[in-house]
Amino acid sequence: MIDLPAHIQHYIGGHSVDSIDGSTFEVLDPVTNQPYLTSAAGKSADIDAAVSAARKAFTEGPWPRMLPRERSRILHRIADLVESRDQRLAELESYDSGLPITQALGQARRAAENFRFFADLIVAQRDDTYKVPGRQINYVNRKPIGVAGLITPWNTPFMLESWKLGPALATGNTVVLKPAEFTPLSASLWSGIFEEAGLPEGVFNLVNGLGEEAGDALVKDADVPLISFTGESRTGQLIFANAAPHLKGLSMELGGKSPAIVFADADLEAAINATIFGVFSLNGERCTAGSRILVERPIYDEFVDRYAAQARRVVVGLPSDPKTEVGALVHPEHFDKVMGYIELGKTEGRLVAGGGRPDGFETGNFVAPTVFADVPSDARIFTEEIFGPVVAITPFDTEAEALELANGVKYGLAAYVWTNDLKRSHNFAQAIEAGMVWLNSNNVRDLRTPFGGVKASGLGHEGGYRSIDFYTDQQAVHINLGEVHNPVFGKPAETTDDEQGS
Ligand code: NAD
Repeated sequence: MIDLPAHIQHYIGGHSVDSIDGSTFEVLDPVTNQPYLTSAAGKSADIDAAVSAARKAFTEGPWPRMLPRERSRILHRIADLVESRDQRLAELESYDSGLPITQALGQARRAAENFRFFADLIVAQRDDTYKVPGRQINYVNRKPIGVAGLITPWNTPFMLESWKLGPALATGNTVVLKPAEFTPLSASLWSGIFEEAGLPEGVFNLVNGLGEEAGDALVKDADVPLISFTGESRTGQLIFANAAPHLKGLSMELGGKSPAIVFADADLEAAINATIFGVFSLNGERCTAGSRILVERPIYDEFVDRYAAQARRVVVGLPSDPKTEVGALVHPEHFDKVMGYIELGKTEGRLVAGGGRPDGFETGNFVAPTVFADVPSDARIFTEEIFGPVVAITPFDTEAEALELANGVKYGLAAYVWTNDLKRSHNFAQAIEAGMVWLNSNNVRDLRTPFGGVKASGLGHEGGYRSIDFYTDQQAVHINLGEVHNPVFGKPAETTDDEQGS
């Protein structure tokens, strides 16, 4: 039996506290859909307190003024602690979110890696100097910005929090984190990890709560100049509007409906294995899921048959079981949404696998891996993000048609191209409207590369030094080395001998 807290609090200015007005909300576990935990529910007064603590730590505390090496040491200690607690983190994450335990463990290790990566990057950071011979030197003075507001979703909670916390802290900012209300459990471990690693008080603050209350207050707080948000595109639009009066820096990682394009010359076995994993891993609750598969006509029938047969073999089970490949969706509301799309799909495409609850799972948020073939490009299951274990397969005849299908949705996060034709793979990849493209590969990401989407999938890029850019101001300092270089305005009039009274 897993050891669980019954109640979790906010963490503000180095202390665990309840909401000022005492509000709480209930958290359900996705296997029984019973409440198992209450969490403090933050409102604007709690956000005010957290922002004040973060602001004080920024203006008066040591963190922004420490040498990068000193901050780096603390970040490495954080990575060590996350690694040493990976089993506990995975256990809590899996229980709270319904993610299969083996995949939750992978995400915990990735969270450690995020800290380690930015710990290394910050000490290797260099900035530009420009010389105008004999006249000027210009250099970039990179500075942390202040209090960063970090708002995260429920699909891989701890890992996505680390993705923002790592660079925000590495660059010397202080933070207020607002985790997703469906999955606040794993985030409750951050405060202990940070305290043990020696992060100064007030640098990290966490306020739990609903998006429309705690999240909204964070976005509208005038003392928070930066918001890094990951979540749905329509929430991103709302945040964009709410942040506009304050002209905040925004980084938006939003939804997706990413295509996997399989040409007839592809390694079919590898393409099937990767596209199965690409949409069914993390329960299909994955922003970069390849949830539309476009297949060239000559191999279409074979692909659909093999894909459907393999999808039927994917193991659905309890999130805690190491054999489980697809666990339980996060919340009954999300389960209903995904089931709604499955019913719709039965009218829009040809169901070849799944299509509802798997046998033996009459309760809880379990969904059988579901495959629709012959899905037309105007179907809602082809154009809208479902965010569950559901995939649409569509045939194409020409490269031009494949590109039109790939680009024919409002999203543009990721794309996967399967072909052994070198020229086509590059030309096709470059023509796709997506922030990230993988050729003959599933989503395997080097942390140095940019991460982000185009169109409705996001605004701005994080990843590697782009995260450093987002979380810092680059002040240009210009130094004159030569004659002062400007025309003189308001020169004194030239005087005559008479005027001088000689
Ligand atoms: P969501 O937009 O409902 O919520 C995300 C976060 O925003 C939560 O913490 C929520 O409380 C908060 N929030 C909600 N309304 C708010 C408001 N008005 N003001 C401020 N904060 C508010 O998203 P979700 O359902 O938690 O996550 C799933 C979505 O996230 C999917 O669309 C998925 O594609 C996307 N996602 C994107 C990426 C990426 O990197 N592009 C990664 C993971 C998930």
